[in-house]
Amino acid sequence: MAGRGLDQLLVGDLVRPGDSGRDGSAGLIWLTGFSGTSGIALVGPQLRRFFTDFRYVERAATEVPGSFDRITAERELLRELGKHLDGRVGFDDANTSVQTYRKLEELSGDHVELVPATGLVTRLRRAKDGAEQRAIAEAARLTDDVYLSIEQAGLAGRSEREVAMAAELRMRELGAEAPAFPPIVASGPNASLPHAEPTDREIEPGELVTLDLGVILDRYSSDCTRTMAAGKRPAAGAVEIYGVVLEAQLAALAGLRAGVAARDVDAAARDIISAAGHGALFGHGVGHGVGVQVHEAPRLSQRSEDELVSGDVVTIEPAIYVPGRLGVRIEDLAIVTGDGHENLSRRPKELRVVG
Ligand code: ZN
Ligand code: ZN
Repeated sequence: MAGRGLDQLLVGDLVRPGDSGRDGSAGLIWLTGFSGTSGIALVGPQLRRFFTDFRYVERAATEVPGSFDRITAERELLRELGKHLDGRVGFDDANTSVQTYRKLEELSGDHVELVPATGLVTRLRRAKDGAEQRAIAEAARLTDDVYLSIEQAGLAGRSEREVAMAAELRMRELGAEAPAFPPIVASGPNASLPHAEPTDREIEPGELVTLDLGVILDRYSSDCTRTMAAGKRPAAGAVEIYGVVLEAQLAALAGLRAGVAARDVDAAARDIISAAGHGALFGHGVGHGVGVQVHEAPRLSQRSEDELVSGDVVTIEPAIYVPGRLGVRIEDLAIVTGDGHENLSRRPKELRVVG
């Protein structure tokens, strides 16, 4: 804030409050722990103020730390907020609507200058402290348990949608607050779409099935992908492709540690996939950060400028997508450390046939 000459900083999302898929709300959850859909924080060197409306007074009392003055807006949140703004006030320009901006301008006096300040909290959220790492590790462990129950129930003969629903139910049974994203269950040719939606397609024996699952637990997300064979061993071509993706995934993990360039971790996986002749079939980056948001900084891709730091929690998820035929993706979640990483995804990765 000092670097940008800010007196105050607004943390939260005034357009769609509570939507942790949006950066502002994720920042508010990270800063205050508040999980409701009407809240914003105003912070400064000597200032910790949290605003909500009457619906969330009790929730704020249990979730928001006592170091914050908690203020209940009598009418609109924005109207109350306007009275407290002073000096140069940073706001999240990337996630504020024109309408909200104009209203805020109208409600604050001449002594207020609204200053674009997207990304200030996002940067702070990157390296996770011990408590955050433990929360993500717990979410990852719960996700492993969901995988275990899916493997036990089997895949062949069930529809993608059935498996996805069973996974989501199991997440809730095991105590997850919610899925971190809608479960992906993509079988056979459907798996060639990186973000396939589960269909009524019945999974056939010998097909590869890609499952991508994550949960929210104690505010933090997990993210894990496994590709398995349903019913019987798949054709040689599929087995070969699986082997290439696994080799690429292990190579990227081997190079994962603080101080390396994120794009070098991407390259470690990409080089192996390219050497096997499938470079054009791996269209996304090798991974991304995970925290309050399931996709956050850093980015691990060919064009990333990020350098990994101790405490980054990232995915490593190389893939090969063969259009109309099959897809293979293997994704682990790992904490970056000074001399390597701690892998939080413990389910086996060698190609396995489940029922
Ligand atoms: Zn994933
Ligand atoms: Zn991911």
